[in-house]
Amino acid sequence: MDMQTSFLDRLFESGLLIDTGIDGLYGRSGQFEDVIAAFERLIDTFGGADGAEAMRFPPGMNRAFFEKSGYMKSFPQLAGTVHSFCGSELDHVSLLQCMEVGEDWTKGQEATDIVLTPAACYPLYPTIAKRGNLPKTGGLFDLQSYCFRHEPSKDPARQQLFRMREYVCMGTELHVTDFRQRWMDRGVEMMKAVGLEVTIDIANDPFFGRAGKMLANNQRDQNLKFELLIPITSAANPTACMSFNYHQDAFGTKWGLNLEDGSVAHTACVGFGLERIALALFHHHGLDVKQWPASVRKALWG
Ligand code: ATP
Ligand code: ZN
Ligand code: MG
Repeated sequence: MDMQTSFLDRLFESGLLIDTGIDGLYGRSGQFEDVIAAFERLIDTFGGADGAEAMRFPPGMNRAFFEKSGYMKSFPQLAGTVHSFCGSELDHVSLLQCMEVGEDWTKGQEATDIVLTPAACYPLYPTIAKRGNLPKTGGLFDLQSYCFRHEPSKDPARQQLFRMREYVCMGTELHVTDFRQRWMDRGVEMMKAVGLEVTIDIANDPFFGRAGKMLANNQRDQNLKFELLIPITSAANPTACMSFNYHQDAFGTKWGLNLEDGSVAHTACVGFGLERIALALFHHHGLDVKQWPASVRKALWG
């Protein structure tokens, strides 16, 4: 049995994660949720004084905005769309017949206006663009959402439906790159407070196909993405538990996000992978929260 399977099995046995029969789709116990809630309060204490505007979107977004985002150009392999039955009574009869004989009953499903949210910040940009020019101080937003990515895996840290807490900053280049640096420093400090050793490294998104290789190289060359890594299922390949993204003016241009003077806004976002952070804590401090080091418990629960 490899290491990944055994950590996942131990999580199932302890009840922290609940098997649904699908890789990457898990229920979570009250204890697991309590760790996530505590860590989110820690995020609040670090970010609270910045005055971010909190918004919570459901885990589905407007399909038109999703299309405009260009997600299907870059990550078609990860997207999840919501389809529904929209047929007649006759269509219903044949649907049930299909199910009865074990044939594909999903062929007649039609795309709805909703797509599963791929990252917590996606619904934000069109929402803010609708308000008109940003105020003089720019924009700072606090988001959290379940996100979907079609990447089934036995690695418990790679889930298909997981939560991302994000802060998104809109402003001048200097403003948003300062924001990103501040959260890199805070990320290291926060993880230290909960007894986790981290490294920060340059990273790239998994752009699809051969053209995607170039986009990924470009992203790395320009230092657009950093990740905070913690070993969870492998010491050699530590897991990205936070990411720090600078979009330059790409999203500002795409969505029509402008500063007070009418110039195009630069944007950056920092994301916490909440399940990954909880899993890192359980991996390093043990599956029994009562046995965690006092300093870690204090940082999380006061
Ligand atoms: P990876 O390189 O591991 O696939 P990513 O670069 O795709 O991660 P981002 O797109 O930057 O990650 O997403 C922001 C954060 O969400 C990540 O830093 C990570 O903590 C978390 N995350 C991303 N994908 C998953 C997943 N499949 N399961 C759980 N958490 C995830
Ligand atoms: Zn984001
Ligand atoms: Mg990924």
